[in-house]
Amino acid sequence: MATARQTMIAVLAAGPRTASSLARELGFDRGRIEDELRHAIRSARAAGHTVVVEPARCKACGFTFDEARLTKPGKCPSCRGSRLFEALVRIE
Ligand SMILES: [Zn+2]
Repeated sequence: MATARQTMIAVLAAGPRTASSLARELGFDRGRIEDELRHAIRSARAAGHTVVVEPARCKACGFTFDEARLTKPGKCPSCRGSRLFEALVRIE
């Protein structure tokens, strides 16, 4: 039986996902998803996959968050706006 992490890697290989859509799809709670996703990225990279993280970004001013920020940030540190694109992760 596939582990949750293997399932997550398979889902990411099928197309880009945000942390919250993964949480919904795989039934993780929002508190755990960032950790689980980070581990899945690490195991996928260790297995030789190319993992692409498109970082979270502010819709208003274009500020780009750190790649390590996998869940949706609350506010933009640059313009204080709260309309943000969540980071997208995919495995190629
Ligand atoms: Zn902004």
